[in-house]
Amino acid sequence: MTTTAQAPILPTYARLGVTFVEGDGAWLVDADGKRYLDLVAGIAVVGLGHRNPAPLAAARDQLDKLWHVSNLYWTQPMQVLAAKLSERFGGAQAFFCNSGAESVEAAIKWARKATGRPEIVALDGSFHGRTLGALSVTGQPAKRAAFEPLVPGARFGLQHVGAKTAAILLEPVQGEGGVHPLPEETLEQARALADEHGALLVLDEVQTGVGRTGAFFAWQRYGVRPDAVTLAKGLANGLPIGALLVSNGAPTGFEPGDHASTFGGNPVACAAACAVVDAIDDELLAHVQAVSAQLSEGLARFGDVRGLGLLLAVELERPVQGVVEAALAHGLVVGSAGEYTLRLTPPLTLTFDEAAQALDILSEVFA
Ligand code: PLP
Repeated sequence: MTTTAQAPILPTYARLGVTFVEGDGAWLVDADGKRYLDLVAGIAVVGLGHRNPAPLAAARDQLDKLWHVSNLYWTQPMQVLAAKLSERFGGAQAFFCNSGAESVEAAIKWARKATGRPEIVALDGSFHGRTLGALSVTGQPAKRAAFEPLVPGARFGLQHVGAKTAAILLEPVQGEGGVHPLPEETLEQARALADEHGALLVLDEVQTGVGRTGAFFAWQRYGVRPDAVTLAKGLANGLPIGALLVSNGAPTGFEPGDHASTFGGNPVACAAACAVVDAIDDELLAHVQAVSAQLSEGLARFGDVRGLGLLLAVELERPVQGVVEAALAHGLVVGSAGEYTLRLTPPLTLTFDEAAQALDILSEVFA
């Protein structure tokens, strides 16, 4: 591990003392040339592995053609990506932006505009991002406290759904909140409540989308169809992108002038995302479930395992930070979600052999 790196950067992250300079598949290389097996993948972002040839070629090709013209005009990668996502969803219109938080902001504005109602009902323990709107609907008071007053209208718990509810906003698996898959009944109840009260059901699939759970959208594993989904992290394999997809069956809500993002739908990011969407086929989704089963079985010796697909967590009996640091020293990159929760979000392309290597390294760490 390289010694602690320094830079004039505001301390919003507790960074580990390593500087990565290169990646290849599930492997990273630090500034000293040391190799690491990467089971974080940029927190569920680099789904196809570092420098995957398909999005790399698509982005390179687009870099050589056109970088940006603004949303005053059409660009082909954005049009193609919207069509691909619509097909995956079963009919939807897209708004493109640059991050998960921005996709949640778009969802909140869309739901308010489409219903004329003020409230968003989210769940305790949820995480929807750090911008003020997304933070307002994040069900973790400790993350909100220092930034009050936030955007009004956020309620926590499905008991608050009623005539003022614009949308119910849920993560199919609460990621940052500790990797807690929602019980199937909760999603079904949310769908029924939304229908009963004329509210919209929005699923935040920023972390669970794009194949992460073994289906393109996690809602496909649950069989509960939302009115809209948010996507970001894995969509362009590491280039910044976010998207709100609104079902063709739901109100369009937005009119010209209602919402915007200068960089949204950036041609290079969208070109890479098209290659990512094409790569998430049945074979890869089956692989995600198979590697998930292998990892889950192997991880069970370290603690209780939970999660869905390749969004996995192990509840440890010791603080996770020491495990994260010891693993890094052993050449394995793992994450956390809470004080005692080990979180693994590896590339979807992780091989069975690499999964076995990761389990061997963790055995040494826990020895
Ligand atoms: N929504 C969910 C479910 C997330 O997991 C995250 C990030 O972890 C966000 C929103 C915010 O995404 P971003 O960090 O890209 O703004």
